[in-house]
Amino acid sequence: MNYDTFIIKYAEIGTKGKNRYVFEDMLVKHIRRRLKGLGDFEAWREYGRIYVKASSGYDYRDAMDRLTKIFGIVGVCPVHVIRELDIKAIGEGCVEYLKDEYGEGRHTFKIRARRNNKAFPVNSQDINMTVGGDVLDALPEYSVDVHNPEIMVDIEVRNEVYIYSKVIPGPGGLPVGTNGKGIALLSGGIDSPVAAYMIAKRGVEMEAVYFNAPPYTSERAKKKVIDLGRIVSQYAGVIRLHIINFTDVQLCIYENCPHDELTIIMKRCMYRIAEEIGLKNDCQLIVTGESIGQVSSQTAQSLYVIDHAINELPVMRPCIGMDKQEIVDRALDIGSYETSVLPYEDCCTIFVDKHPVTKPKLDRIEESEKNLVGKIEELVRKAVDTEEIVLCR
Ligand code: ATP
Ligand code: MG
Repeated sequence: MNYDTFIIKYAEIGTKGKNRYVFEDMLVKHIRRRLKGLGDFEAWREYGRIYVKASSGYDYRDAMDRLTKIFGIVGVCPVHVIRELDIKAIGEGCVEYLKDEYGEGRHTFKIRARRNNKAFPVNSQDINMTVGGDVLDALPEYSVDVHNPEIMVDIEVRNEVYIYSKVIPGPGGLPVGTNGKGIALLSGGIDSPVAAYMIAKRGVEMEAVYFNAPPYTSERAKKKVIDLGRIVSQYAGVIRLHIINFTDVQLCIYENCPHDELTIIMKRCMYRIAEEIGLKNDCQLIVTGESIGQVSSQTAQSLYVIDHAINELPVMRPCIGMDKQEIVDRALDIGSYETSVLPYEDCCTIFVDKHPVTKPKLDRIEESEKNLVGKIEELVRKAVDTEEIVLCR
């Protein structure tokens, strides 16, 4: 069966009371934007539901792939539309639909009709009875089970009649743009794309920053991060990725600070730059992929010292309590894993010491950073001023 109409199911945004329409309108906007280029689609909101309709040919799989990645959508129902408001036509349409979707073999079903259009003369209970009878007559192997049917057939009578029974799951969450903006520190690893995904899923629009270290890191490593940004953007919408050339800053730290403290001091510097870019771009949050205890720079003591590098934006770490395998599973779901494990070096691994401190002390680190005063400021300035911006979409 070729579908040209979809009902979009959403859950949590339905609980937002008076602000509900803000969430719904945002979701409609995302749906329109995401389907652009795949055909002529209309999307609109009506009586607490969102409908999508194609008025030209389109590729069903592409459209479904896009729709099922939009945050806020819990499920997408392909709808068989009957244009005649006539009980006989509804019965015939329902039989045709079931035959097409499930065949003529043994199935249990239940009809669940809703008559939103009160001008239609048959009430929902009678629609259930009449259409149920039509199905039993036309498909003798089918039987009714009102308690636990295999096929729950929804029939909605509006200006036209919608018949559907399948829900293709979406990612859930809230429409991006309904909860402010964050800046994700996006590296080429497994964790940070998952972290950006998780925060975007709560409705937060995303920017991202990547610290690049040419020639110590290759063009391919940078391309990999852009690709990861694109994968996350399939869910999160357009992501502006700020690419910072961090090489000179890193070398300055390397030359002036104890090597067992390099990772911590570099991270602090990255956070400061991310905060500056975030504030300049109206972000309220920083998002990173740390998980407690995963590596030396992610002990509680390290996170404490890193967080003290900045004082305005809070740092969100949605992976903090996850095991590596849980993060990997999530990356596989999202579709970022295969790209994340491509073997290109990242800027931290090159400057990393064999025995980094695992329990840094804030005052010691601040003491070491004094060696940078008068040397690093200009390099940071230049790195920020010469940022490259890539739109990931
Ligand atoms: P990931 O898998 O996300 O790369 P990781 O396990 O390699 O994380 P770290 O290298 O300690 O962990 O980095 C911790 C977090 O710091 C990352 O999740 C990311 O948010 C940020 N980060 C690290 N390196 C970079 C970089 N070069 N550019 C931007 N952010 C970075
Ligand atoms: Mg990494």
